[in-house]
Amino acid sequence: MRTSLQSVIKDPSLAPEGRLKIDWASAHMPVLNRIREQFEREQSFKGLRVAISLHLEAKTAYLAKVVQAGGAEVAITGSNPLSTQDDVCAALVEDGIAVFAKYNPTPEEYHNLLVKTVETKPDLIIDDGGDLVTILHTERQDLISNVRGGAEETTTGILRLKAMDKEGSLKFPMVAVNDAYCKYLFDNRYGTGQSVWDGINRTTNLVVAGKTVVVNGYGWCGKGVAMRAKGLGANVVVTEVDAIKAVEAYMDGFTVLSMDEASKVGEFFVTVTGNRDVIRGRHIANMKDGAILSNAGHFDVEVNLVELAELAVSKRTVRRNIEEYALKDGRRIYVLAEGRLVNLAAGDGHPAEIMDMTFALQALSLKYVNDNYASIGNRVVNVPYELDEQVARTKLESLGISIDRLTDEQKAYLDSWASH
Ligand code: NAD
Ligand code: SAH
Repeated sequence: MRTSLQSVIKDPSLAPEGRLKIDWASAHMPVLNRIREQFEREQSFKGLRVAISLHLEAKTAYLAKVVQAGGAEVAITGSNPLSTQDDVCAALVEDGIAVFAKYNPTPEEYHNLLVKTVETKPDLIIDDGGDLVTILHTERQDLISNVRGGAEETTTGILRLKAMDKEGSLKFPMVAVNDAYCKYLFDNRYGTGQSVWDGINRTTNLVVAGKTVVVNGYGWCGKGVAMRAKGLGANVVVTEVDAIKAVEAYMDGFTVLSMDEASKVGEFFVTVTGNRDVIRGRHIANMKDGAILSNAGHFDVEVNLVELAELAVSKRTVRRNIEEYALKDGRRIYVLAEGRLVNLAAGDGHPAEIMDMTFALQALSLKYVNDNYASIGNRVVNVPYELDEQVARTKLESLGISIDRLTDEQKAYLDSWASH
């Protein structure tokens, strides 16, 4: 359904470029295309308002259009001030979607755009890191009773929702999309693995082969970033706080060091922990001249930029998305994309085929929560396994890959404790 709401975007005349980007992405999203047909047929969201906060680029735009095709009136905003693409926003407005987003707003503008999105009085939400949920549970609690439920995209957002659920403060059901197999196995690992290096390479235009790359955090994202760094020919060092993940990194063939040690040898650093102050003053004090710091975790707090600035005598932009900090002893430390997610703030984020599966899960989860919100209650729930499997099967079909099925004898064998 087309909206009559007034959008807030940078420049409507950019729509043709945005449309080309959306068309290119959607042509590489076969799973979501199949869901679009289903939603169009069933009118799954007829008469409902859906508010979305996600990195506002072409793949996300196509998800918004799929939800709209299901009969919803859609309002959308970004989930990071640097990842919104103004041309994509313009194309969406032409398509009758309410857009409240622009590239690089001030922190106050960014917040106001989120609030405006919430003020469309959504029945359903899609969130990425909890911005919409937080506003609905704090400054706009008056709008909360209208919300049936929603779906959350990322690891950090789900951690926060679970904390709310535990203390009993969550006021509507939320589906933890990140925790589905077809999300973290592919999006966090292969998506982040590829797009982080895409972001770093296009931003720095420097060689990776032969250099030492330090990956902070060996979770699902860190595994992908380390794997692809190895593929580019780097010497890869991993730092961890979890003993099991550290052994895993060691067995995967990486050098595992404490950050005090790793900070002395790294040439590229990628933080991807979901934690704060992973790189701080004491580590920067050890670093080589020319070290390049980037972050792929949720917030811009993984590199402590305040402590870096305290150690510096000057700061200047040396290339788009690269800040040089000159230290008192003459060393120079470079920070990419202001310490925000380098793959999204200095790139286009994950590739289309990856977001195809992630956003297929988002779309199906939104329908699931709409159909079942009363029985789910105000809790964080997982994506039902059947939906996860549906996404994997559709993906395989789109690739022309068939897999085997269990015979009756095999099923009986697996179900029996006595057979041998
Ligand atoms: P995860 O929980 O699987 O992994 C995080 C890892 O970091 C854990 O192994 C943890 O032990 C480790 N860690 C925590 N504190 C640390 C520290 N001080 N030093 C070293 N290691 C530390 O999470 P994930 O799915 O890999 O996500 C990581 C972050 O990336 C989250 O904030 C998530 O929201 C974000 N994310 C980003 C993208 C992207 O496109 N850039 C994609 C998905 C998720
Ligand atoms: N609000 C956060 C966003 C978390 S980013 C912030 O401050 O930036 C992590 C999420 O971005 C991941 O879970 C991933 O699914 C999503 N993502 C990665 N590439 C994307 C893309 N091309 N389009 C939309 N979302 C993307």
